Amino acid sequence: MAAAPRPALSAEFALIERCFTRPTPHTLLGIGDDAALLAPPAGEVLAITTDTLVSGVHFFADADPYLLGRKALAVNLSDLAAMAATPRWALLALTLPQVDDWCRSFAQGLHELAAEHTVELIGGDTTHGPLSITITAIGSVPPGQSLRRDAARAGDDIWLSGRTGEAALALRWLQGQIQLSAADQPACLQRLHNPIPRVELALALRGLAHAAIDVSDGLVQDLGHICRRSGVAAWLDLAAIPRAPVFSNLPATLQQQCLLGGGDDYELLFTAPATRSAELAAVAQALRCPLTRIGRIIPGSGVQAGPLDAPHPLDMPGYDHFA
Ligand code: ADP
Ligand code: MG
Repeated sequence: MAAAPRPALSAEFALIERCFTRPTPHTLLGIGDDAALLAPPAGEVLAITTDTLVSGVHFFADADPYLLGRKALAVNLSDLAAMAATPRWALLALTLPQVDDWCRSFAQGLHELAAEHTVELIGGDTTHGPLSITITAIGSVPPGQSLRRDAARAGDDIWLSGRTGEAALALRWLQGQIQLSAADQPACLQRLHNPIPRVELALALRGLAHAAIDVSDGLVQDLGHICRRSGVAAWLDLAAIPRAPVFSNLPATLQQQCLLGGGDDYELLFTAPATRSAELAAVAQALRCPLTRIGRIIPGSGVQAGPLDAPHPLDMPGYDHFA
């Protein structure tokens, strides 16, 4: 006997089923009910974070949907990494002007990055309107092993993964503010459109680092958050800030703006006791993730530079939605 035809789904539910529903073996109940059901890993606490990307603010309206799907999840995984949480689940609240192939490519990018980190999409919301993407990511971490902004201590070294500035260069180039040679464009655009969250590094920093933040709004501004929350100051060794070769031919002010105030870097900025530097070097080597010591936590407040015995405040505004 032929199976009874299934009643047609509305466009909204057909879209959810076609684009977003995938197997979720690590979830008690995923997409399809009023809420998902999760069993947190035994003995761990949950870390939850959310980030919105708005068309025309965080990305150009004609941005590649595949890369946007990756980036929307990546920025959330970067926040979980900054807490040293293992990423596990995500929810997607999507506002779309229309249902079309855009969504298929977007979902493909999102699911690909999710699969790379064994993250399961377990729910969300789909509405009609100007394009906006909100992802909520959930991870887990043993209690006491998360890397909080308020845990930096005077005497800690300040470390940076990878290097900052290239995404900001790409953005300035796309906006027509600067020239970039054809040879330099691909690497900078890759940093802007396809950031790689530092998940592996974050997990290796458990028990090693004190405080951490992911650099999304500019290195100095984000370091300032650690200072405020921890009640300390940060001295930055400006000569030690790693920089991509592309910066060597650029004016000094543009270099500083991009390296220290750029945004969209998604590197990890963390503090650790000086006694752990050999272990950190071993982590860097094992993960092939460059780590650079760029300063020191000192008593006081704010981010400072100049001679260590007579530092001065370093003012480098980062991204501010309401400035
Ligand atoms: P409700 O009306 O009860 O809020 P919905 O009809 O909005 O539920 O959604 C139906 C199911 O599809 C829910 O399980 C919801 O989590 C899931 N869902 C809706 N939109 C998305 C999306 N963009 N991505 C993933 N899951 C989604
Ligand atoms: Mg409901």
